[in-house]
Amino acid sequence: NENKSSNFLRHIILEDLRSGKVDHIYTRFPPEPNGYLHIGHAKSICLNFGLGDEFKGKTNLRFDDTNPVKEDTEYVESIKEDVKWLGFEWDNLFFASDYFEEMHKRAVLLIKKGKAYVCDLTAEEMRKSRGTLTEAGQESPYRNRSVEENLDLFARMRQGEFKDGEKILRAKIDMSSPNINLRDPALYRIAHASHHNTGDTWCIYPMYDFAHPLEDAIEGITHSICTLEFEDHRPLYDWVVRECEMENTPHQYEFARLNMTNTVMSKRKLKQLVDEKVVDGWDDPRMPTISGLRRRGYTPEAIRAFAQAIGVARSESLVDSKMLEHFIREDLKLRVPRPMAVIRPLKIVITNYPEGQVEMLDADNNKENPEMGKRQIPFSREIFIEQDDFMETPPPKYHRLYPGNEVRLIDAYFIKCEEVIKDEVGTIVEIHCTYDPETKSGTGFTGRKVKGTIHWVEATQAVPAEFRLYDALILDDREEEEGKTFLDYLNPNSLEILQGFVEPHMRAARPQDKFQFPRHGYFNVDPKYTTPEKLVFNLIVSLKSSFVI
Ligand code: ATP
Ligand code: MG
Ligand code: MG
Repeated sequence: NENKSSNFLRHIILEDLRSGKVDHIYTRFPPEPNGYLHIGHAKSICLNFGLGDEFKGKTNLRFDDTNPVKEDTEYVESIKEDVKWLGFEWDNLFFASDYFEEMHKRAVLLIKKGKAYVCDLTAEEMRKSRGTLTEAGQESPYRNRSVEENLDLFARMRQGEFKDGEKILRAKIDMSSPNINLRDPALYRIAHASHHNTGDTWCIYPMYDFAHPLEDAIEGITHSICTLEFEDHRPLYDWVVRECEMENTPHQYEFARLNMTNTVMSKRKLKQLVDEKVVDGWDDPRMPTISGLRRRGYTPEAIRAFAQAIGVARSESLVDSKMLEHFIREDLKLRVPRPMAVIRPLKIVITNYPEGQVEMLDADNNKENPEMGKRQIPFSREIFIEQDDFMETPPPKYHRLYPGNEVRLIDAYFIKCEEVIKDEVGTIVEIHCTYDPETKSGTGFTGRKVKGTIHWVEATQAVPAEFRLYDALILDDREEEEGKTFLDYLNPNSLEILQGFVEPHMRAARPQDKFQFPRHGYFNVDPKYTTPEKLVFNLIVSLKSSFVI
């Protein structure tokens, strides 16, 4: 695949295999189960599982669940579902919390080696004493406690003798290191909190920087891939693996996270949208979560093609969200049917068509893909067209329906506007037209031409449907100004709900079925609001875009 060259990690792995640094590859995707996965995680999933598959290695799904407070089994289940839906299979499913005993042993080993100590500074005192980029760190007054005292205090931390924040276990590395991460970082903290997996077994929990390298080493991960924020943590990662005397030596590699225009990409912020009911859940079709994209109508194929196309690099960039849209259009173009739907209906009465008569007309399911076959659609005296396909006083170059004008109905006849019917306050209620039986589609009629072609749905058999049109949830990508948060940039018009009609055979449509509605875009049958009585469609994406790949 030509795009694979834009993944620098592939080249590192090829070189590692060639030089014999490794003889197999083993990756992992390590989400913290504190929220639903988003499109940024999809990049990481495609990367880790993609490398595992390509190099006939293995990939684990590992829940990095070392923080009891924010984690939940609901998130665990959603993450498993999302990874599977994207089309990947893990070789093993692990929980970091299953290694708590092992991690604790390694911490004790560090204490015995004089490489870790219990510190009584408060979080704030510790933060200050670690200094800044320009200011060296200050050693903690507790730094030189004896091994015996540290072992005793750490045991009592585990036994629950101290309150949250009262004591902390720190690595003893180098308070004058130019890398702040090496200035005696925290390894274990006290948290009297129930854990989703281990319950109340523990009241001390390992910090990410201590836990993650151990998790990788325990599982035999060869290439531990993370985002660039962790670049400066790499020396600490290596220190932990070395000083804890782990058998396996995993290596950390960093890549640039996915950032996308008009998109919040942080579980914390997405959770805020859910908690504050700005959206109707993690799977709201406006959310950039994998579950939201799925409900919107995105396919795994489109998301994987997108992940492939954006590539993997070490420099930060901002991807245009239109690029993601491009891939769903490409994926659906030839493989979904294109029935007609009227989303803002206007009634047309064809006065010269026999009352009570209904005829069936042939229509292609997808004009660009004849393999999709044909369907039959009813036609009669009453049909719906789109409100904006009629204008009483048309501007120049308007070729659709207006008084005296003739247009072509897709797959049916020419109709001519004869009369505009209004109610007592002047609102248009219906349009009376005549049709010309000679002009039936497919008969090869060439007698005269019309400039406009419009879509329609026969009225007596039409199936009522709800259409949910979406726009960006976030208005623009301005940096948040002083005193404002991303919630101040919400688009008040990100959802528009319309009631219209679809063709009668659409009664058979099921949740997650996808269609192109000519002129409107690609739509998905919403799995949450669709009932046996009512179809609800989510706009996936409009038909056209100025975006070129
Ligand atoms: P968030 O900041 O959105 O809460 P996170 O990084 O805290 O995400 P984790 O569950 O810790 O989420 O991430 C699991 C994996 O997904 C990590 O390896 C992380 O690097 C990767 N990841 C998270 N966000 C992105 C992103 N925007 N682009 C690429 N990879 C990402
Ligand atoms: Mg995280
Ligand atoms: Mg994060």
